[in-house]
Amino acid sequence: MKINAKTKIVGLFGYPIHHSFSPIFHNAAFAGLELDFIYLPFSVKPADLKEAVQAIKSLNITGINVTIPHKEKILPYLDEISPEAKMIKAVNTVHNKKGKLIGYNTDGEGFIQSLRKEGKFNPEGKSVFMVGAGGAAYAISFALIRAGVKKFTFTNRIFDFERARVLFKHLKNTFKDRCELSLIDFDKRNSRQILGKVDLFVNATSVGMHSSDDQLLIDLDFFSPDVFIYDVVYNRKTNLLREAEERKLSSLGGLEMLLYQGALSFEIWTHRKAPIETMREALKQGGVG
Ligand code: NAD
Repeated sequence: MKINAKTKIVGLFGYPIHHSFSPIFHNAAFAGLELDFIYLPFSVKPADLKEAVQAIKSLNITGINVTIPHKEKILPYLDEISPEAKMIKAVNTVHNKKGKLIGYNTDGEGFIQSLRKEGKFNPEGKSVFMVGAGGAAYAISFALIRAGVKKFTFTNRIFDFERARVLFKHLKNTFKDRCELSLIDFDKRNSRQILGKVDLFVNATSVGMHSSDDQLLIDLDFFSPDVFIYDVVYNRKTNLLREAEERKLSSLGGLEMLLYQGALSFEIWTHRKAPIETMREALKQGGVG
């Protein structure tokens, strides 16, 4: 990587960020296409977010990815918000377009693209069951309904079931009757009646990120053999994915969503098609996946 006076800077705002894989695959993509860009990690504490966003302009930074805990808090500091980001009230990508900061959210579309391209699964007309009601669940539920799923059922653990109620209301208000929408109690999830006709199951919770707390949130016995299992957790192979593979169910892990959301950010900043294979290979070389 040769840095010169014209090198364009992009990067990541988050706190903490030392675990992020994004610098690995973005820098590999820039090198692969010989683009004069560099991707840097910026550890931005919550109290410094406003100043950090102002610095995107003052330092002429081309673009930024945004991660926990800034995805929602950044909205008021941006000049324009894309329709997708506005809908879910969260931004994961900022583009500095001639001094104007535009916020996007590529998580949902990254999920859909990975599902279609790597999973060969077309969500149109399908029945989905999701566990989760956090940031990932918001992005995924909106994207799946926009992509035309017929039936969308979800739940969340009792401890923060209120988040699921809020998401349900938000989905209902946005999509009206465009999709058959249900929110069910967490302890009613494991039943053949609910899971038997599901085409796609999504774990959109953080369960599985740590080996010490990698419980199975769903009983795979209740699904049909044609079900597709998607786990958004990307830092390790979860028990859910292991079990799905053992049962020869089609499945995908969160690393693919991570790659595709990153590819979409890359395309926003560079106006070039992202080299997904180069990016995936960089993660493998870095010992990820
Ligand atoms: P969040 O904190 O906003 O939400 C966490 C969700 O997990 C909530 O629904 C919470 O109720 C649930 N949860 C947490 N602990 C639980 C437990 N013990 N039992 C049952 N449910 C539990 O987090 P988020 O931003 O939505 O992230 C969730 C996961 O998605 C994380 O693993 C994150 O790394 C991953 N993620 C992946 C991508 C990707 O590109 N692959 C993108 C965004 C997030």
